[in-house]
Amino acid sequence: METNILAVDRAYTPDRWIGLPDAMRLYGRGAVQASFGNIAAVLRGGVNARTGRKSILEVRSILVVDTQDFLVRDFSYAPLERVYLFRRDRNMCAYCGEVFKFQELTVEHIAPVAQGGGNTWENWVTACRHCNQKKGCRTPEQANMPLLYVPYRPSRFEWLILANRNVLGCQMEFLMARVPRHSRLHA
Ligand SMILES: [Zn+2]
Repeated sequence: METNILAVDRAYTPDRWIGLPDAMRLYGRGAVQASFGNIAAVLRGGVNARTGRKSILEVRSILVVDTQDFLVRDFSYAPLERVYLFRRDRNMCAYCGEVFKFQELTVEHIAPVAQGGGNTWENWVTACRHCNQKKGCRTPEQANMPLLYVPYRPSRFEWLILANRNVLGCQMEFLMARVPRHSRLHA
């Protein structure tokens, strides 16, 4: 299993998920300013010739990285992908309200592409195949199929949760504290 470590910038703004090799490189560069959370991995290094002791590095689940390339500038960064959409909507069809498996879900354009609807978080909603076909190339009003929930663009903090299936408890706590109230993650 890949170790998912949360890298935050010097202002403690979450930047990205990194794996253990990246974490080790950052330690090597002296870029890890601090760390907190649970221990994500214990690395055993070589034997110190002088002391005869084995070096041990405990990698915690949240690393504070103090470098320019880990400085968060775009707080609304949240790339749109179907997998994140389904997680945002908790696999629930926006029209019938049923919960489906990932494979049974489709991306539904609220305003149809044919009517100028774009690929945005606000215009994408999760729908089952049946509802998607039934709605067709119409708006919810034209199809008389009202949305059961409101689509929204996740914040960067929420997106980081959507982008990782194995968020650890302490990382979740840290991220959720910064997720806006309107998010369905709070439901
Ligand atoms: Zn449905």
